[in-house]
Amino acid sequence: MTARTPFLDLPPLSGVGGRVQLPGSKSISNRVLLLAALSDGTTEVRNLLESEDTRVMLDALRQLGCAVDAAEDGALRITGLGAHAPRVTQPLFLGNAGTAMRPLTAALALLGGAFELRGVARMHERPIKDLVDALRQLGCRIDYLGADGYPPLRIAHADGPPALRLDAPVQVRGDVSSQFLTALLMALPLAAATREVVIEVVGELISKPYVQITLELLARFGVHVERDGWQRFRIPAGSRYRSPGELLVEADASSASYFIAAGALTEPIAGQNGLQISGIHLDAIQGDIRFVDAARAMGARVEDTADGLLVTRGAWPLKAITLDCNHIPDAAMTLAAMALYADGPTLLTNIASWRVKETDRIAAMARELRKLGATAEEGADFLRITPPATPADWRAARIHTYDDHRIAMCLALAAFNPARLPVRIEDPGCVAKTFPTYFETLFGVVRAEPADIPVVCIDGPSASGKGTLAAQVAERLGYRLLDSGALYRLTALAAMQAGVAPVAENEARLAALAGALPARFVAGRVLLAGEDVTDRIRGEDVGMDASRVSQLPAVRQALVALQHDFARVPGLVADGRDMGTVIFPGAALKIYLTASAQCRAERRHKQLISQGISATIALLRADLEARDARDMQRSVAPLKPAQDALLLDNSGMTVDETVDQVLAWWQARRPFPSAQAV
Ligand code: C5P
Repeated sequence: MTARTPFLDLPPLSGVGGRVQLPGSKSISNRVLLLAALSDGTTEVRNLLESEDTRVMLDALRQLGCAVDAAEDGALRITGLGAHAPRVTQPLFLGNAGTAMRPLTAALALLGGAFELRGVARMHERPIKDLVDALRQLGCRIDYLGADGYPPLRIAHADGPPALRLDAPVQVRGDVSSQFLTALLMALPLAAATREVVIEVVGELISKPYVQITLELLARFGVHVERDGWQRFRIPAGSRYRSPGELLVEADASSASYFIAAGALTEPIAGQNGLQISGIHLDAIQGDIRFVDAARAMGARVEDTADGLLVTRGAWPLKAITLDCNHIPDAAMTLAAMALYADGPTLLTNIASWRVKETDRIAAMARELRKLGATAEEGADFLRITPPATPADWRAARIHTYDDHRIAMCLALAAFNPARLPVRIEDPGCVAKTFPTYFETLFGVVRAEPADIPVVCIDGPSASGKGTLAAQVAERLGYRLLDSGALYRLTALAAMQAGVAPVAENEARLAALAGALPARFVAGRVLLAGEDVTDRIRGEDVGMDASRVSQLPAVRQALVALQHDFARVPGLVADGRDMGTVIFPGAALKIYLTASAQCRAERRHKQLISQGISATIALLRADLEARDARDMQRSVAPLKPAQDALLLDNSGMTVDETVDQVLAWWQARRPFPSAQAV
């Protein structure tokens, strides 16, 4: 799946099992980076979330003088500033990361120095006044460089750390964002070496679970804050940050919710005892871990094991619940998806905050759940979901995702529907906000009935452009790609390396080589026994031998299982001779791509010229015509369109037009309503 994938059609899913490793928690990642930077010593951080927000934080820390190195095992080694005062001349650029802007402002204001902190335009519209007020009240000099109350900011203590007024408690508002309190909690231990520091929250503190994460992490770095309710926080005198040496970032609990749900929706895949979610335990410090209680109430069986959570299906159908979801606003969206499989109406209450998230999540979820066949009733702060009454009441839906990663992730769970209908997720790339590899991770642990996995076959004569077309269609659909010609080329190369001539007498040995090809296809590269042979197999000599081995029936037979194995969730685009006739006769769409010999000769000519190879169009055309004739007449796997293939002559068409035509045919065959009433 890439940015060019406008929608992702999930086939109906029938099982789940295996092990997933989820990205680290977003909330924990940036806090840990800053704490490591403020500590003495080096911290090895594992499972850090790789995202835009952590990237800008790391860049800023490097700029401030922290050493950041990648360890061989994937850990990140951060050496804290210790006694060194940070000094920079360039502005710090913090993108749109509130989790970097707020705590860095507080920490740098207390450390002293001259700094400028900036972000993207949207960051300059995000309030920071409550934090700046608290810091100014302490004696820090901070100026607004743009609008009052918003970044960009300048911290002006060129002459060293400011003298702080700490006799009275530091007051901060807690009802706009808990990030202001978090920023002070992380920065003020820097001022508590010789005296205690007290922070008082003005107004009701929101998002307490996030403040809890801050306190837990401060403790890991040696600072033990005492709190009196959620109103007063005392940092004891003598507090000092000390690196814990190593720190494993918990897997993101909100991300885990989709997999906990998946584990509760199906029987485990045969031979596996459930879905193992590594890197997170029931004692996780993230608030969303409480999702587990709700999932269990609906019937999920969740065990805490040494390697993480092990989830299996318990009650089935799931049990409908009524739940106040105030403590798990994000993960509660996953409950709304689970409600599709419950034995009655599920009522989620106290979710008014959904209305002001990435989109109005109550309205959006209600609308999309209805498309799937559920009844959804929404109120100002609740959502009641009644599942489709029978399998026949489910609908094949195109799920609109409103640029909201969580809608895409939780409603993908609709693919487990009992009606075995596919589900279309529009703009699947929106998951990048917190979990760029969500769909790939999901596909790695789910199973679908082979007959439900869609296959698009593309065949055609030499130089018709079928390889390019197949690759682009696969990218647009987010499907896997099978370049079957590459398998014959790999067989030919393996034979060359083994010293086996590509002749009929060696058919059995060649078939044995084909049946055990140590081939892997990784990120557009082709590996044979670990060696990158992507370019090598395109060689003229390998092509000639490939043509020879491909005429041997035993070799063709030996490659069948390998080719079938490419048909995996979410789907496959297969390019090559017998894809639609022999390998995938039941394919959902078969294309026979052709173009006039003249046109193909001109294209190949252009291609060769661009590679600096001289050729004439007339000769190339004669060569192509001879090859067509040979290919059509050969006895094994002759070139011919599958009976039910759609013929596409792209002589006068561009690549984009050709791709669009195939996608239009594909859309027409899908069961999704073209314009859906909402
Ligand atoms: O398409 P490509 O040139 O990579 O294919 C290499 C050789 O394998 C060609 O001779 C082609 O005819 C043969 N082939 C085949 N069946 C396929 C794909 C390719 O016989 N499915």
